[in-house]
Amino acid sequence: MAKNQDNSPPGTRWGRAVVVGGGYAGLVTARVLADHFAEVLVLERDPVASDTGVHPHVPQGYHAHAMLARGGEALEVLFPGLRAELAELGAPVFDYGERISFLLPTGFAPTAKVGVSIQTFTRDELERRLRHRVLDLPTVRILSATRCETVTSDTPGRLDRVRYRTDGADESVDVTADLVVDASGRATSVDRWLADARLPVSAKNTIKAKITYTSACYERPPGDTQDFDVAYQMAFAPGVPRGGVILAVEHHRWMCSLLGVDEHVPPTDDEGYLDFAHSLGNPRLAEQIKRGTRQGEIHRYTNPGNEWRLHHKNARWPERLIAVGDSLCVFNPAYGQGLTVAALEAELLGRLLRDRRADAAGLDGLSRAYQRAAARVIQVPWTMATSSDLMWAPAGQPLSARFAHWYNQHVFALAVRRPDVWARFVRVLNMSAPPSLLFRPAVLGKVVRRALTRRRN
Ligand SMILES: Cc1cc2nc3c(=O)[nH]c(=O)nc-3n(C[C@H](O)[C@H](O)[C@H](O)COP(=O)(O)OP(=O)(O)OC[C@H]3O[C@@H](n4cnc5c(N)ncnc54)[C@H](O)[C@@H]3O)c2cc1C
Repeated sequence: MAKNQDNSPPGTRWGRAVVVGGGYAGLVTARVLADHFAEVLVLERDPVASDTGVHPHVPQGYHAHAMLARGGEALEVLFPGLRAELAELGAPVFDYGERISFLLPTGFAPTAKVGVSIQTFTRDELERRLRHRVLDLPTVRILSATRCETVTSDTPGRLDRVRYRTDGADESVDVTADLVVDASGRATSVDRWLADARLPVSAKNTIKAKITYTSACYERPPGDTQDFDVAYQMAFAPGVPRGGVILAVEHHRWMCSLLGVDEHVPPTDDEGYLDFAHSLGNPRLAEQIKRGTRQGEIHRYTNPGNEWRLHHKNARWPERLIAVGDSLCVFNPAYGQGLTVAALEAELLGRLLRDRRADAAGLDGLSRAYQRAAARVIQVPWTMATSSDLMWAPAGQPLSARFAHWYNQHVFALAVRRPDVWARFVRVLNMSAPPSLLFRPAVLGKVVRRALTRRRN
């Protein structure tokens, strides 16, 4: 197992960083901070031990999580050998084009190598592996069953003092930090911290997309092999309100999530669950549910939509506080972006800290520089997710969303017949290439020709 590998410039480390939240984003960020701070304290309100899987304040842990290729690469740099470690447990690594039965709204995607490698596993195994790795770092301490009560400061314009209390303790503890990271997820109390410090609360951008996940894990029959590792049906406005995914995961299991928009709520009883799976256009989900033996409960989660806290636009955003992961931006989970974006935010933070240490620049100004740069990381996935989600509304969609939707429909229609178009789409979807890849002449020309032909006919 890799020990703390300090890739950062020589020079004095900063003193202490405190991470509020020891979920996925908190752990990944702690890994980066360990290169630059003498002490990293991670506060996690749930009682987590090194082998804890899903814990109470991370209910999404029961649902299928796809790690996009770009996120997988970022994690592998931060945690070398992670992919092999998960593979040893049976988490498959494969080419996206070869082993995914992907039902687009226009038909099945071609099965052909696209050169984008991904791995499938459960979110709880991922978090467990990350926690092991982070606990192994000599400068990091995780305080479990410890809730951050508030973040304050004696210095105006800063938020650098964390008050926390461990379950069962008589008193709260105050600790001052050189950097505080909000990794407390979608239920963050950052608005209260700002308001109590008489600082403006950041504006929010909210795009509704009510989606309900219902999920279960299935043991596969012994010796079972299939010609796919993922079967997927994409929901797409307005005609495909139901979707689902089944992922081959560690320990020879399928992780299945069925999902529906608005009133299309997948049931939590076995019969209803299978019926919902049968209602999908991709038969492979129902086939595998039927063949498998369910392990554990069927869990349900409703996500109301996308929500981005615009800290980068808050002119009085405090020194020494930064936000990562879902505390900064929650995406509609159907696009599988949250884990990857949090890994890219951690990667970004590492870059900024390295540069500052190399220039002996100190930490003043870091919080705003980070929030501005993080907004640039978020912008593309946010636009991709929300321009699709806006199309569930019956009317009044902005022109940009209508154009993106129109363009996507043509790309999907082309992709089912043209492996080259599909390969480009896969790279964009996995954040391995910018969306402009789909607007190069090779695709744009085909889209325009198709649109003109359909108009004439
Ligand atoms: C149903 C569903 C499916 C999803 N599928 C995908 C997918 O396929 N691919 C993908 O990339 N993303 C997916 N996501 C999104 C992904 O789960 C999140 O982006 C990711 O888990 C965010 O991690 P986080 O650490 O920011 O937040 P969380 O995982 O919510 O962790 C926050 C942590 O902070 C702790 N905490 C909170 N408050 C305090 C406090 N005051 N003091 C101390 N600790 C505190 C909590 O206990 C928790 O451990 C999905 C989400 C949902 C809901």
